[in-house]
Amino acid sequence: MKITRIAAYQVTLTVPSVYKLSGGRLFETLDSTIVSIQTDSGLTGWGEACPFGVFYGPAHGHGVRAGVAELGPRLIGANPMRVERINDFMDDVLPGLNYVKSALDMACWDILGKALGQPVCELMGGRSDHDLWIAASVSTGTPEEVVANVQRFRDIGYRCFSVKVGGEDPSLDVARVQAVMKARRPNEEYILDANRGWSLEAALRFASLLGAADAWIEQPCKTYRECLSFKRRTGLPLSLDEILTGPDVLLQALADDAVDAANLKTTKVGGPTKMRRMRDICHEAGISMSIQETGGSDIAFAAICHIAQSTNAALCRHIWDPRELAAETLAHGAPVVEGGKARASDRPGLGIDVVMEALGDPVAVYE
Ligand SMILES: [Mg+2]
Repeated sequence: MKITRIAAYQVTLTVPSVYKLSGGRLFETLDSTIVSIQTDSGLTGWGEACPFGVFYGPAHGHGVRAGVAELGPRLIGANPMRVERINDFMDDVLPGLNYVKSALDMACWDILGKALGQPVCELMGGRSDHDLWIAASVSTGTPEEVVANVQRFRDIGYRCFSVKVGGEDPSLDVARVQAVMKARRPNEEYILDANRGWSLEAALRFASLLGAADAWIEQPCKTYRECLSFKRRTGLPLSLDEILTGPDVLLQALADDAVDAANLKTTKVGGPTKMRRMRDICHEAGISMSIQETGGSDIAFAAICHIAQSTNAALCRHIWDPRELAAETLAHGAPVVEGGKARASDRPGLGIDVVMEALGDPVAVYE
């Protein structure tokens, strides 16, 4: 099988109500890139890459499309079913910049599944029969607003909450967390996610004020050095997210005993292939995972469900539904969320039917 045509589409996703992270970071829209790969077999695969705005991590929508412009013409004629070889090639042609490769890699997995008549989860190790619990991404605000945001998700069945902290005043963050913990129910899980918003000093002050709280702290500071220092000086359970941009960083964090839980996101790490490698490294290391995306629509959600559904149930703590922050429907057939949980599709490939009218005209075509 050979790739004959690659098209890139740009879609501006609407965040239904303004989403807030620490440091005044507001999200009203997200810039998503959808990629289709056509083949000489008649099969077409779809992928999506959607960085979380421009100030979440080292990635942005224009960058995705610039990367596809470099890689797209060079992939014409390649066999998309050889996903590891496609990744080797992309890493040779364009070293680093994993996020620009994610949509292309995802589309190759869609083709592989369609060609073999198997859902992607079966090809990533085999379906594991567990519900995929969705972590609610709880927008920051006053303690009362955060408690109300948690309750809004609890009312529709969620039991995992990523509570956003990382503000300038650690005591206000502690007040947010204590207000939420006061209303905590049995079987609920909490991640205190600073989204790299704290200085090391602020993170240490937060930790000393927090006291005993059954929760992970996620990505307290900007750099790996600061996060490592935080871990060594507090001993608190630490999840890494923004700085886990590929398998190399994960391996270093494991070598330094700096990570207890990993937040893996498809766009951030470079697509399902690298996500699978990181998933398997975490599995061997006994590190629990949250399998997520930085943003996106039904296409991205379908992909993370397949990766999570093929992950050891005991280590797959939760996933995330990026459609919380996307009003548009770009595909039908993505898993339905009911009671705060979902399951990957049984259909071949990603199991989705893209809504062509929602994409508009391609912004670039390579053939
Ligand atoms: Mg996070």
